[in-house]
Amino acid sequence: MTEATHDSLMLPGCANCWPASPEAAWDARRELRELAMWVDEAHFNVRGLQCVHCSRRFISVFTESIDWINGDDGQSWTTAPVTAAEFAQLEAALPSSIDAALRLVPANRRSLRRDHPSGQDAQIGWTSGIDVCSHD
Ligand SMILES: [Zn+2]
Repeated sequence: MTEATHDSLMLPGCANCWPASPEAAWDARRELRELAMWVDEAHFNVRGLQCVHCSRRFISVFTESIDWINGDDGQSWTTAPVTAAEFAQLEAALPSSIDAALRLVPANRRSLRRDHPSGQDAQIGWTSGIDVCSHD
């Protein structure tokens, strides 16, 4: 077994931080400890989180697009589990390019997405990778 295979088998986390249902995973996300707030803009942030139970690390991206007409801003959160190595690579790459850094999260990695489109109900579900939509 290679190191990489072993590491991916360790993903995505424990029952506390990555339960089977996306709704439960969204609730569990609140329990994650914040390790780093790398990008902290009004409508865009990128944070590094960690489970206090299993030490699994996560990348969390929040985007908001302003609804200038109705004032009901569209919001989106994406959280993906990462290995310690990926976490370190991403942290190192962020200062030069946020987009390039976020692409270090494998596109096929299961991630949790909560979308709250302007004027609609919030939806929570599984997706893959970190696909950062346009933001203000
Ligand atoms: Zn955990």
